[in-house]
Amino acid sequence: MENQRYYQPEFETMPVDEIKKMQSEKLVKQVRHVYDHVPYYRDLMDKAGVSPDDIRGTEDLHLLPFLTKADLRDAYPYGLLAVPLKDCVRIQSTSGTTGKRVVAFYTMHDVELWDDCCARAIVAAGGTNEDVCQVAYGYGLFTGGPGLNGGSHKVGCLTLPMSSGNTERQIQFMMDLGATILCCTPSYAAYIGESLKDRGYKPEDNKLKAGIFGAEPWTEEMRRDIEASLGIKAYDIYGLTETSGPGVAFECSEQRGMHINEDHFLAEIIDPDTGEVLPEGSKGELVFTSLDKEAFPLLRYRTRDICRLTREKCSCGRTFVRMSKPMGRTDDMLIIRGVNVFPSQIETVLLNEGYSPNYQIVVDRANNTDTFDINVELTPEQFSDTVGGVTAREKALAAAMKTMLGINPAIHLVAPKSIVRSEGKAVRVIDKRKLTD
Ligand code: ADP
Ligand code: ZN
Repeated sequence: MENQRYYQPEFETMPVDEIKKMQSEKLVKQVRHVYDHVPYYRDLMDKAGVSPDDIRGTEDLHLLPFLTKADLRDAYPYGLLAVPLKDCVRIQSTSGTTGKRVVAFYTMHDVELWDDCCARAIVAAGGTNEDVCQVAYGYGLFTGGPGLNGGSHKVGCLTLPMSSGNTERQIQFMMDLGATILCCTPSYAAYIGESLKDRGYKPEDNKLKAGIFGAEPWTEEMRRDIEASLGIKAYDIYGLTETSGPGVAFECSEQRGMHINEDHFLAEIIDPDTGEVLPEGSKGELVFTSLDKEAFPLLRYRTRDICRLTREKCSCGRTFVRMSKPMGRTDDMLIIRGVNVFPSQIETVLLNEGYSPNYQIVVDRANNTDTFDINVELTPEQFSDTVGGVTAREKALAAAMKTMLGINPAIHLVAPKSIVRSEGKAVRVIDKRKLTD
């Protein structure tokens, strides 16, 4: 298994026309399975005037109705289950970042398939059975821990099921057991990097070679930061509970976009306002149809994640379509004084201007106008360097934000370590308008 380039080359490097043919065949079967076993979706199809016979291949996909998170909440808990409960072996749940949690079900086959997807991601990051893989995503209902744990087993890595938190112990095990691959959220990876530095370790003191980081948006600037602080290559991984969990898409050695596991998931990009399917390369909302899942086979599920797809040839040899880093969710986007603002834009400015990725955005309303504040943590070096003064720094940063966003935030530079660190998904935004509305 040493120097293995792919985990399942027979799929990962399949010619594109064969992928499409395979997807068409699976789609026809999957639509029939869902129509016959999920009354909730059958109703949606009946209302849209579509029957399973109308779906003869991927070219007919656009005829099917969308499913949204609201449908999942509506149908909670069993309304979208497509097999008898006795055939299910697992339940996982979303993190509840944007509201009530939804639950997803898995048969044994679904778990196997999910583990394969995560194994592909680990191998793409250079993982083999010689590696020690430290899984510091949360275990439990959250899909991060169980997903990467399953993938790591399949690859044959020595798996360290740390879960998130207890950073002292993470570091001790990482150093004592010589972990070579770290899996966690990018914000937790940044925190671990910072904690290693605080304890006097240099990047070359650890044995890590790669990190597999996902479950939340992170910028290229943040990638560079983490790579430098841990002395590794940092790979992105994407997924959501509704489609199984992490591993729906993963980055390869090229580190330019994530290959979507197209043998299992059919991806579309739509205009989030009109629902119209957009051509390759357009920016829009990502929609997934799971082609192989038995228990929870969502058709045309709207992820609310905004990105682009490309079929440009990849140097790694994989033929699966690539998705760009999601720039945030449609519901992450803040509208401040009428202007659209994504937290990822703010993070880009901060890191470009030499600040740490520790920040918090606070939006409120005073006298019928939105207030927009960004608390930004100074690094210890910046903190001890009083030349230039804090006010001048705040002004300069506000000006850089204005150039990127089109509106002026109030910047507050705060002392090192004063913004609470995240062990899972970071909380970047406090929107007090929502709390009072
Ligand atoms: P929740 O929707 O409650 O956060 P999940 O834990 O299932 O529940 O998270 C899935 C979501 O996490 C995705 O829809 C996406 O918004 C985000 N996400 C996952 N991986 C990435 C990634 N690599 N980059 C950006 N966002 C990601
Ligand atoms: Zn590639």
